[in-house]
Amino acid sequence: MGTLGKLQALRSGELSAVENLERFLERIEKMNRELNAFLQLNPRAREEAEEVDRRIGRGEGGRLSGLVVAVKSNINVLGLRATCASRTLEDYVSTYDAEVITRIRREGGVVVGMTNMDEFACGSSGESSAFGPTGNPSAPGYIPGGSSSGSAAAVAAGLCDLALGTDTGGSIRNPASHCGVAGLKPTYGLVPRHGLIDLGMSLDQIGPLAPDVHGLSLLMECIAGKNPGEGMMLEVERVSYELEGDVGGMRIGVCPQFSFLTDPRINEVVERKVERLRELGAEVEEVSIPHLEHALSAYYLIVSVEFFSATRRYDGRKYGKRIEEVCGEEVLRRIAMGSYISRKEYRGKYYQRALQLRTLIRKEFSSAFRRVEVLVGPTVPKLPHRLGQKLSPLEMYAYDYLTVPANLAGICAGVVKAGEVGGIPVGIQVQGPPLGEEKILRVMRALEAGA
Ligand code: GLN
Repeated sequence: MGTLGKLQALRSGELSAVENLERFLERIEKMNRELNAFLQLNPRAREEAEEVDRRIGRGEGGRLSGLVVAVKSNINVLGLRATCASRTLEDYVSTYDAEVITRIRREGGVVVGMTNMDEFACGSSGESSAFGPTGNPSAPGYIPGGSSSGSAAAVAAGLCDLALGTDTGGSIRNPASHCGVAGLKPTYGLVPRHGLIDLGMSLDQIGPLAPDVHGLSLLMECIAGKNPGEGMMLEVERVSYELEGDVGGMRIGVCPQFSFLTDPRINEVVERKVERLRELGAEVEEVSIPHLEHALSAYYLIVSVEFFSATRRYDGRKYGKRIEEVCGEEVLRRIAMGSYISRKEYRGKYYQRALQLRTLIRKEFSSAFRRVEVLVGPTVPKLPHRLGQKLSPLEMYAYDYLTVPANLAGICAGVVKAGEVGGIPVGIQVQGPPLGEEKILRVMRALEAGA
């Protein structure tokens, strides 16, 4: 049953919110030991589902009407742990709901629990959590991708209806691709960041993961839109998406720089889909993002500086433990990089250059989007490695080559399953201009429906 079918069952009373929750809890009970997708379950979930059932009875179930939502552990949910999968915050219990959580509750969503992730969202494999790696239910033995590993795995294993992840440089799209689910990184400034524990504040966006494109669209309609009092947000009140639209006549771009360093087997899966779009009447055109190859270095310089600054509050006085004393290797590496790059004597060097590159990349995307409506291409340049296989930091960063450009440019980008290589899911990435969500969701919907 897809998201819409489930919603229908909940609204008609064929399935209650409590029954829906309990089915998931049973599956979690059976599967979580092996998957490690959830770090904590919500002890009040049943009460919350009962309340939603009462609301449905009064005809006030909201848009989510008892759908069960899993939340990444870097988003505050009152009374639950927002550990960021780090020892630093292992005892930190949220004292408030993030704005997206308030909105989900208002619409009748039930938070089932907090999901596993790479520590402080620094990672692409789901292995750097202080509480152990997450498994990949769609490709057992392989990494699920990261950093929103638990959210993607929970959706893929059928442990929730919908999930929230965050994407700073690919953390929704990368695990969506490896786990064979749908994911969306919204345009920067479209979804409130209030209550998100930041990795890189100029890049982070909260976004949905779901089994299908309707699920993404539904969750976006609940969480997107301006939050009064929150700076850095776009002037958009609410969003509403029409997904069923013809892709015939649409101008779709492919970009050679995206396939250049990508595993040919992944390119092949993507090309087959592009061919289908062409058969449906889309006009496929080649466009260029000439500085794409520099996006990864620009991203890592910027994210390290912003993360270094964000971590200064974990000095052991107010929040949890002193980060440098308890964090894992990758988090420590970023803190070291960030503090080095921000030294006074390097003013005008690394960080400044990275910002210049960022401007250049943003301009290149906007000129591409003057010629085409969306860009389609691969999500991750290589297939996931086996869980536990040791990679060098640079090999790990290479996973992000095709996802960080969208964050640098602040545009929207989504992923939907395109096929498999040797039993491992491969997602196709659809990128669109700022606030181009409806367009990319439409293309994703067409692809999902068999295009
Ligand atoms: N893998 C990237 C990083 O480690 C992206 C992480 C993310 O999007 N949160 O920074």
